[in-house]
Amino acid sequence: MADDVMNDALTNETVELLQAMIRNECVNTGYPDSGNEIRNVDLLQTFLEGPGVEIQTYEPTPNRASLVARLEGTDPSAPTVCLMGHTDVVPVSPEGWDEDPFAGEIIDGEVWGRGAVDMLNLTSSMAVAFRNLARNDFRPKGDLIYFAVADEEAGGGHGAGWFADNDYDPIKADYVLTESGGIPLPGSGEPRLAMTVAEKGIGWRKIVVHGTPGHGSRPFRADNALVTAAEVIRRLVDYRPNPLLTDIWAGQVEALGYEGEMKAALLDPARVFDAIDSIESDATAARLHACTHTTFSPNMAQGGTKHNTIPDRVSINVDIRTLPGETSEDVEAHMKAALGDLYHRVEVVPVHEDPSTASPIETPMWATLTELAGRKYPGVRLVPTMTTGGTDSRFYRAKGAVAYGAGLFSQDVTYETFSSRFHGNNERIDIESLALTTQMWLGVAERFWEVAG
Ligand SMILES: [Zn+2]
Repeated sequence: MADDVMNDALTNETVELLQAMIRNECVNTGYPDSGNEIRNVDLLQTFLEGPGVEIQTYEPTPNRASLVARLEGTDPSAPTVCLMGHTDVVPVSPEGWDEDPFAGEIIDGEVWGRGAVDMLNLTSSMAVAFRNLARNDFRPKGDLIYFAVADEEAGGGHGAGWFADNDYDPIKADYVLTESGGIPLPGSGEPRLAMTVAEKGIGWRKIVVHGTPGHGSRPFRADNALVTAAEVIRRLVDYRPNPLLTDIWAGQVEALGYEGEMKAALLDPARVFDAIDSIESDATAARLHACTHTTFSPNMAQGGTKHNTIPDRVSINVDIRTLPGETSEDVEAHMKAALGDLYHRVEVVPVHEDPSTASPIETPMWATLTELAGRKYPGVRLVPTMTTGGTDSRFYRAKGAVAYGAGLFSQDVTYETFSSRFHGNNERIDIESLALTTQMWLGVAERFWEVAG
């Protein structure tokens, strides 16, 4: 009873902090003057301040602040754990929402708003767990860090990437927990939760197509850069790179409950593409395709100057996501193969690159998370998954840290609903999931160092 009362009080704290963070509207458009994460950092600083907590804030770019809070460990040689949550959110298309995306309203036991699953739910629950530990004079064996970071949604240059390049010591950790994991997987039998252990890499390219300017009234035989660009885009979309079927993929196929012929096809490099293509759900097919293939998405095009002028320059921004082990040279080889004879007629300019990263699961943190998830879902198995997007985990993995996308969601949040709400319309989270996740971070603090021995 006493426990329940305490848990309810903590859950309420998480709900209220989440609502306040949603209302702060730290929308990151990718422009340096967006985000304004200082609003959430000010809120968190006020929330966390108290005896025993060291807090430091950093503002590498005006208004793009991040916060690092620390509970010092009793044993300097013990591993350090960091709870990392980003404070920014992606923009919304308000017309697609049934409720105000920045009001943080509670409707039928769910908190609505941009960031409710990506990932202010975790950022707020981490802060609540951290403050609760501090107020109860909890002393971890190794340092426990709470890192509220800016700019996750646009590459991390004003956030985790800046720390990694310029000031790593304050955030340095051996184990990092962040988005997105603890999501119940479908299927009968033993309960299974997805935890993220790997992510695809980035190999962004800009393709610049040149042509010859001319009068739009005489297009016959014209060298129109826009017409060439259309063909470039068509070839990129039609391109079929070879699949890569990793151990993580094999585990995922099993966890998703595929059996018999479908399972065999999904595990066969020669048949996996057609097997995925036969899946009815567009969202599932897109996710499974991205987990097994290098992907190419032409997302921006710029060109042309005047309604009556044949354009001599068009640029296409292609979002390329690479598989484990792929390098810059591999991306170039893909472009050559995809564009064929047009490859030599265009300029392919590297825009941003980050290799795919992964963490092992033979760790005391994985064991701890399994134990804690088992309190809610007895007999649970954690299924390691690869995320197709990028998160700040990659900066830590590049430094040798073990980083997992973790959390603990109720059965109200299926893998499918989670994916559709992530950056989607009507983003919201049920309060039970907020309670479970808050308890999970507390459990990590209490159990990790015991499990690690
Ligand atoms: Zn996120």
